[in-house]
Amino acid sequence: MKRLAGKVALVTGGARGIGRAFAEAFLEEGAWVALGDVNLERAQETARDLGPDCLAVPLDVSDPLSIEGAFKQVVAAYGGLDILVNNAAIFDMAPLTEITRESYERVFSVNVAGVLFCMQAAARVMIPQGRGGRIINMASQAGRRGEALVAVYCASKAAVINLTQSAALSLIPHGINVNAIAPGVVDGEHWDGVDALFAKYENRPIGEKRRLVGEAVPHGRMGRAEDLTGMAVYLASADGDYVVGQTFNVDGGNVLS
Ligand code: NAD
Repeated sequence: MKRLAGKVALVTGGARGIGRAFAEAFLEEGAWVALGDVNLERAQETARDLGPDCLAVPLDVSDPLSIEGAFKQVVAAYGGLDILVNNAAIFDMAPLTEITRESYERVFSVNVAGVLFCMQAAARVMIPQGRGGRIINMASQAGRRGEALVAVYCASKAAVINLTQSAALSLIPHGINVNAIAPGVVDGEHWDGVDALFAKYENRPIGEKRRLVGEAVPHGRMGRAEDLTGMAVYLASADGDYVVGQTFNVDGGNVLS
């Protein structure tokens, strides 16, 4: 028996990386999956790869009109919405003395406002549907502890952990479970950018930070997107029914809490 048979899921930032792996796992469990991404071309390519039960929709989570349009498109295509994964996010870093307002506003508008207002849009669909739902927010180990060069991104992910709690308490009376996943360091295209920024600010050769963070994980390697899919399917499925407002570290042992 497929665990998400007949469910409709929207994965923000689903064009690549962790979001794409979640989409693939949900499809294997019988769901219909919409990939909402600001990179529409890449999302369309991914949707083609993942097959006929997958659809790409244009979505910029930092834009209220775009959120409204994407949720309408998903409901029109699949007749409702059962699962939202707030996975879209951007990364930036700089020493505290060099952080710009522009960077702060850009990161918070995607990573925090994006999560909040996509949760709101999902709740506005799920509550009147009357069949409950699931919301999974992507936090990070960065949200558990600040880092000298990564203040803004870390704060944005701490906000995701806290918003998950408030949204969970607000929505569980409607049968909508809100939880979060906090990955550690997950290899993929995202890390090309992260590694380049650490190379710049810590004066390292390209690739060195990536190697060092992998070696520092107690499990002994960086994470892979597939390491996270089991938790996502669990939270999205009936098995996660009594799990409310939690943030799960899936990080090879980096954070013990
Ligand atoms: P990624 O950069 O590979 O993918 C992010 C996706 O989001 C891309 O497809 C991008 O086009 C999309 N996106 C960016 N801005 C958007 C916007 N405004 N609206 C809609 N889509 C947008 O990232 P990833 O490594 O797959 O990470 C996925 C999630 O996991 C993120 O929330 C990230 O913060 C979190 N995370 C990643 C790591 C890691 O090491 N990779 C660690 C901890 C947490």
